[in-house]
Amino acid sequence: MSRTPIIAGNWKMFKTAGEAASFVAEVKGKAEVSGVESVICAPFTALPTLVEAVKGTTIKVGAQNLHFEDNGAYTGEISGVMLKDLGIDYVIIGHSERRQYFGETDEIVNKKAHAAFRHGLVPIVCVGEKLEEREAGTTNEVVRVQTEGALSGLTAEQVAATVIAYEPIWAIGTGKSSTSAEANETISYIRSVVAKQFGAEAADKVRIQYGGSVKPNTVAEYLGQSDIDGALVGGASLEPASYVALVEGA
Ligand code: PEP
Repeated sequence: MSRTPIIAGNWKMFKTAGEAASFVAEVKGKAEVSGVESVICAPFTALPTLVEAVKGTTIKVGAQNLHFEDNGAYTGEISGVMLKDLGIDYVIIGHSERRQYFGETDEIVNKKAHAAFRHGLVPIVCVGEKLEEREAGTTNEVVRVQTEGALSGLTAEQVAATVIAYEPIWAIGTGKSSTSAEANETISYIRSVVAKQFGAEAADKVRIQYGGSVKPNTVAEYLGQSDIDGALVGGASLEPASYVALVEGA
């Protein structure tokens, strides 16, 4: 089964709409490599500008969160209906920063995954262990519970279309990263969890990225591994030249 590699930049809480437009002007025609999907996940305020800026390119746009309800009395929240209306394709769900700072549980992540599919958005579902969990030897157990929890109740077709990002928390924004072999081992395990829950076909199709301090000079090594289908990249996705190098490196 050949899965299309996917590089997703997670800008976190960086860049205004104007800065997003300048970024696209610089990467246009460069962060566009045949056979590699390139997605920029930006703050909500930059999304409308970004959707306009990428028109005529192969670059896709993603949000970094959504609410699990379609509308309602949820002050300050943004729903899948609103993102779809903007022309967004992807949405990051369950990033460790949201789990850590905004109390997102596996149950909430699961409701958000369902909300994404209700509105034709592809979820990029993040899972990953804390340093103490890794040191205690419970990485597989942690990612199994998170993966099963996030995907619960989805159809096998939906799971096949999902992107999972395996991001060891201790490697995010720290400059420390999992070796490509270790990341591949955990990602293969996640794929086996998907196979058990949704069958071999869904497991074969689901794309699983590695995330955690990936840089232009390390991306190819990760993507060269048998089960790693791309990268979710924070810091190194913020500079145009670096983003282009990530997409080219894939
Ligand atoms: C992330 O934001 O998901 C991430 C992996 O960040 P960084 O690449 O900076 O570690």
